[in-house]
Amino acid sequence: MPRKDFIKHNQAFICSSCKSENPPLEGGERNHCRSCLYSLHVDAETPGDRQSSCKGRMEPARVEYKGAKGFMVVHRCVQCGKEIANRLAPDDDQTILSKLSP
Ligand SMILES: [Zn+2]
Ligand SMILES: [Zn+2]
Repeated sequence: MPRKDFIKHNQAFICSSCKSENPPLEGGERNHCRSCLYSLHVDAETPGDRQSSCKGRMEPARVEYKGAKGFMVVHRCVQCGKEIANRLAPDDDQTILSKLSP
């Protein structure tokens, strides 16, 4: 069943996991909830490609350091197990991030 309540591409959205409001991200792209860090599986290979038909909920699995891209949060789909790394936002919840960091 497709879910349309979690819009990426830097629009304001209400998180489908924790119901908190996310404003657009200044100078970036809002691709996960800043409060619970959950995302949705809408991309197949490239972040933003919207080619996945899975639409499963993606949980924040861990934080990884990716060289030039800096720290990224790795989301793992609870439905299919796919992992996708996403850029962090400056207002992401620091308590959750610190628990994910190595
Ligand atoms: Zn949330
Ligand atoms: Zn998936």
